[in-house]
Amino acid sequence: MADLVRLLSKLRVASGASSPCLLRCLSSSAASFQSENQIPSHPVHPLTFSPDLTGTDPKDRNVQWVFLGCPGVGKGTYASRLCSLLGVPHIATGDLVRDELSSSGDLSAQLKEIVNQGKLVSDEIILRLLSKRLEAGEAKGESGFILDGFPRTIKQAEILEGMIDIDLVVNLKLREDVLIEKCLGRRLCSQCKKSFNIASIDVKDENGNPAMSMAPLLPPENCMSKLITRPDDTEEVVRERLRIYNDKSQPVEDFYRSRGKLLEFDLPGGIPESWPKLLEALDLDDYEEKQSAATA
Ligand SMILES: [Zn+2]
Repeated sequence: MADLVRLLSKLRVASGASSPCLLRCLSSSAASFQSENQIPSHPVHPLTFSPDLTGTDPKDRNVQWVFLGCPGVGKGTYASRLCSLLGVPHIATGDLVRDELSSSGDLSAQLKEIVNQGKLVSDEIILRLLSKRLEAGEAKGESGFILDGFPRTIKQAEILEGMIDIDLVVNLKLREDVLIEKCLGRRLCSQCKKSFNIASIDVKDENGNPAMSMAPLLPPENCMSKLITRPDDTEEVVRERLRIYNDKSQPVEDFYRSRGKLLEFDLPGGIPESWPKLLEALDLDDYEEKQSAATA
């Protein structure tokens, strides 16, 4: 824990971002968001947060981090590993939407309508789901979180910044040629529905890029003949998905960069190569050992 506290105080100094004006209450930022966007045809209840969630000194709580990264980069994997290590919840907005849809929560009817019409879930709804999730977590005694896949837009980033103190934003990056090869290697077993990856990455160092190798994630023998490629995993679609992601994420990255909160991390390879380096970049490299020593 001491290491974490050290890390947090370091980040705090480095970012200089803990001014009290960031701790505006959620309801006021949500209100300004509404008036700017003219969304609600549904009545919107003011978003409220318990004050101790926003006002807590980072030294007295767990990390409040965001993970960014394009589709296929593996940010869910790294975020969830870090969450287990740090003992914080891994909050992915995709899961929040799915959970609400399968529940009888107050937003589920509205969500079903949106999804059935093939529309995008609005920032406002995503933020309400997120605030609901954070409040429920706090009631259970959770501290800290890693947000995965959120914020996606500059508007979401601005509102989030008014809601809660984000200590650090980790931007995971992978060479584009490798990323595309990896996305094109994705396969699904048509029988057991498990995902695999047949891409065996082995690129040499060129143009200042270091060499990189990533082992494939091959299926067991009996899945081999049942592998299918998802129809949207063509090179054209993958490139288009990346282009759209980059267009949207650039302003979000700039937003956090200008606040001194963005940590750019170039993945040096697969999980075995990347994980220790990521821990090092986060100043957690001796944290893992101490954790396992403490629980041994
Ligand atoms: Zn299978």
